[in-house]
Amino acid sequence: MKEGYYNIGIAPYPASNWERFKQLVRRSVSLELLKGLWIVFRVMVKDPTHTTVYPAERLPLSKRYRAIHQLLRLAESGNERCIGCGLCEKICPAKSIRMDTELGEDGRKKVSQYTINFGRCIYCGLCAEVCPELAIVHGQRFENASEQRAHFSLKEDMLTHKEAIKLQKEFAGYGAIAQNADENIKKTPLAY
Ligand code: SF4
Ligand code: SF4
Repeated sequence: MKEGYYNIGIAPYPASNWERFKQLVRRSVSLELLKGLWIVFRVMVKDPTHTTVYPAERLPLSKRYRAIHQLLRLAESGNERCIGCGLCEKICPAKSIRMDTELGEDGRKKVSQYTINFGRCIYCGLCAEVCPELAIVHGQRFENASEQRAHFSLKEDMLTHKEAIKLQKEFAGYGAIAQNADENIKKTPLAY
């Protein structure tokens, strides 16, 4: 026989019903079965595997995960950060952003419409990269299944609600509150 090979002891095939019965009993209550059950029990007690009970439990998303977009407001004034420059619309490779602007009553440019077609968006993140005002960012909302395609995609769905402005996550960059904002505050002179 070649080196490294060995013969397996193959029991003779049972010839009678009595021998078949004995083989069945031997296989059913053999130590291998008990050994397997012991291993399963040991792992179950010592190293239990946890399954996330979704949606009651959720795993944390990566900080760089690109989920449904959010339109942010300025934390101090509550005004919309978007200045209607149109850069996000122009850079979008999937042509999924559509926006419109108009002249507001105060003579300033206002974003009257802003929609993202999430059926086309490829979540590349270019719109958030190019925005000069940190107005559009990717949020943490990844459950974008809905009965209507228009869900999530309208400006009012993406824009931070005024009541929830304190919960709005701030990002570093232009338009964001500086980390040392309190140190930079100067007392207004009386002459003003
Ligand atoms: S993530 Fe990419 S594809 Fe989606 S809206 Fe922004 S630029 Fe367009
Ligand atoms: S790039 Fe930013 S500021 Fe310009 S239109 Fe888009 S969201 Fe608004």
